[in-house]
Amino acid sequence: MEISASSKEPTPFYALIAAAGSGSRLGGDLPKQYQKIAGKPILQHTLEMFLSCPGLQAIAVIIDPAHRDHYESIAEQLELFEPVTGGKDRRISVFSGLRYFSNLMDDDIILIHDAARPFITYEEIQEVAHQAATHGAATLATPVTDTQKYDNGDYVKRENLWAIQTPQGFRYGLVVDAHEKAHEKADSNAIYTDDTGLVAALGHKIEMVPGKRANIKITTQEDMEIAKKMLSSGPAPHPFETRTGFGYDVHAFTEGHTVHLCGVEIPHLRTLKGHSDADAGLHAITDALFGTIGAGDIGTHFPPSDPQWKDCDSTVFLKKALNMISARKGKLVNIDLTFICEEPKISPHAAAMQQRVANLCGLSADRVGIKATTSERMGFLGRSEGLAAQAVVSVKFPVEES
Ligand code: MG
Repeated sequence: MEISASSKEPTPFYALIAAAGSGSRLGGDLPKQYQKIAGKPILQHTLEMFLSCPGLQAIAVIIDPAHRDHYESIAEQLELFEPVTGGKDRRISVFSGLRYFSNLMDDDIILIHDAARPFITYEEIQEVAHQAATHGAATLATPVTDTQKYDNGDYVKRENLWAIQTPQGFRYGLVVDAHEKAHEKADSNAIYTDDTGLVAALGHKIEMVPGKRANIKITTQEDMEIAKKMLSSGPAPHPFETRTGFGYDVHAFTEGHTVHLCGVEIPHLRTLKGHSDADAGLHAITDALFGTIGAGDIGTHFPPSDPQWKDCDSTVFLKKALNMISARKGKLVNIDLTFICEEPKISPHAAAMQQRVANLCGLSADRVGIKATTSERMGFLGRSEGLAAQAVVSVKFPVEES
């Protein structure tokens, strides 16, 4: 059986936001990334856009410890983790950020972005992540349209000339290798002002993802004026709404020796009866997800009368619901699940279930609640005739323009 992946299915990625610069060219008391446009610090605009991407696995911000108070006031509102301490220049700062993510696998995708580019869009972020996963290294860039000339009078051939922006996306192993090599001979980055330069120095091709000129890096006071105009004259930020879905599922016990709950196999004296693998936890979550888009329930999409779903791994059902939500640009916010059963004991397995559901849904573990209660031996659940699960989910959707 095959669930067709939506073309809009997000590529999972990690993000590193470079915000340690002093922004000396902009003037003013505050470093540029903390100066406000439209009532919010530039860094906050940037972070909010990244945090709205369903593919985002985790984000880290590299800061100058001298700016810690400014960072904290943003981090509190966005529930961010501890920042990474930057170094004396951008390369060293990004290298510290890469080491912060040292638990990543070589093939994981990491996006590196300048805090001072708040006009990045959701679509551009997803596209860079997708192209980095395909090619190993990718960056947003715009073809140069102004004529280019050196001081000495020579002209630069404009064709095939790109102005490179961020985000820049890489396979983690590749960009770490590039930084380690650059770090060994600390002057090797002299002509490189970004991470694609270090990766290209390894001989690796960089995939150019055509970007928009609106993705400016706010560097000078003039940029700041342009940025303010863009925000005041541009379309209003796309409105979002949060929808809640509820799911409930029960399966009866029968002869057997393992149960599947939330994708975790648990040895038990009996098993749960069902047409699929009878994973009541994933079924409740899946139905809750379908509920947020009015798309029926598991039975609608995977009829028990169809033999192809017999003994099916319930992650297939969950992925279908997640794909349908992604196709509508929905972003799952959190899941809360409660099992109601006398047996098996859930608590020894709750952490594994939480991590499994988080991984399946592209959420951090603190957005997945796994709880359990008994029925105090009353009723069919109390007599251990079966096991029930209830799930509530919240999903953020863009509001359709009417
Ligand atoms: Mg079920």
